[in-house]
Amino acid sequence: MADPRDCVLTVNAGSSSIKFGLFEAGAAPAARMTGLVERIGDGPRIKAEDGDGASLVKRDLTAAEGADHVSALATVLALLRERFPAARVIGVGHRVVHGGVAYDRPIRVGAAEMAELERLSPFAPLHQPHNLAGVRAAAATFPDAPQIACFDTAFHRAHPFVNDAFALPREYYDKGVRRYGFHGLSYDYVAGELARVAPHLHAGRVVVAHLGNGASMCGLLGGRSVASTMGFSALDGLPMGTRCGQLDPGVLLYLMQQEGMGADEISDLLYRRSGLLGLSGLSNDMRELLAARTDAARQAVDYFVFRIRRELGALAAALGGLDALVFCGGIGENAHEIRARVCDGMGWIGLELDEGANAENARVISAEFSRVRVLRIPTNEEIVIARAAVALIGGEARAAAE
Ligand code: ADP
Repeated sequence: MADPRDCVLTVNAGSSSIKFGLFEAGAAPAARMTGLVERIGDGPRIKAEDGDGASLVKRDLTAAEGADHVSALATVLALLRERFPAARVIGVGHRVVHGGVAYDRPIRVGAAEMAELERLSPFAPLHQPHNLAGVRAAAATFPDAPQIACFDTAFHRAHPFVNDAFALPREYYDKGVRRYGFHGLSYDYVAGELARVAPHLHAGRVVVAHLGNGASMCGLLGGRSVASTMGFSALDGLPMGTRCGQLDPGVLLYLMQQEGMGADEISDLLYRRSGLLGLSGLSNDMRELLAARTDAARQAVDYFVFRIRRELGALAAALGGLDALVFCGGIGENAHEIRARVCDGMGWIGLELDEGANAENARVISAEFSRVRVLRIPTNEEIVIARAAVALIGGEARAAAE
């Protein structure tokens, strides 16, 4: 039986923020605390809630408390000692965006694995280095706890060749220029929830739309990913808050050859100035766009909805039909207007929304007579990391005992 004091910490480190969670390390890990250190290095602050959502702390940090990832994690450790003095962190689970070709499941990160993950940084230069900074900082702060990496790409690693490759010369495929797909921790969670609440749907053909600031869609067959709208990078597929989504590569040639733009400028354009923000000229925030009355804001939302509907059709074709559509992410979970517009006129695929249930943010939002079920499942990437860390540590302990 697990010691009730044993906990795992989850860490999701970005360039200037660390999302963290403390979970009981039992058979079904439960959150004891979740929180965020943001604006690391530039007016840092922390907030955290307990497992019931009650605020534990919300305050500005001193410059020293949040100067970098190491000091931010030390601040989290201090909070943990103050609020949960009996808790013992037996492992730290990390969200790591890229696991490359090889990693199709969570791993314990030692020196060799760290070197391998660093080699993957050029594949995700805006995310991977920060994720790995989080691993290093946690290893320094919790030196006795194993560091466990959970990859956003891992859930998609079993894609068939036609959905793993680009039609480039083979040497690029061999070098790792492939369609990886991201948001895997979220899809893993949703697939698990489907297996729990609707096993007949889990066994079938499902499209999950993860619509947040980052957005993608995934086609699941029997709970396994067979296709995703995101590819080599987290830029492809749907338009996002500030990312462009699908783009004709000819546009990149034009930007380089005619506009004289360099790689850094193009990266900034595609990652930070495009998507909903670029189209609306107003905001990357869906709430603001829905409230705005400008033509450009309306067109940005129109474009977002159009691309989701188009990808829904494409993914249904890849799956050979559709049994369920699941919405998650900040927009997917909360913006009933967007869900209604995505589902409008989808009778041809057997999908009819229950407008009342949709407006109330119910779990099942399809009409009773709809052949395709439509669900809203709030995602929880942190618990996927916590479960993976607990499972890996437990597996190692069993293996050592044998
Ligand atoms: P991230 O990808 O950064 O985790 P989230 O999943 O939190 O992002 O999603 C953020 C998006 O969700 C923002 O565009 C925000 O406007 C949108 N959102 C959150 N709540 C609502 C709401 N009630 N109505 C419409 N959009 C919402």
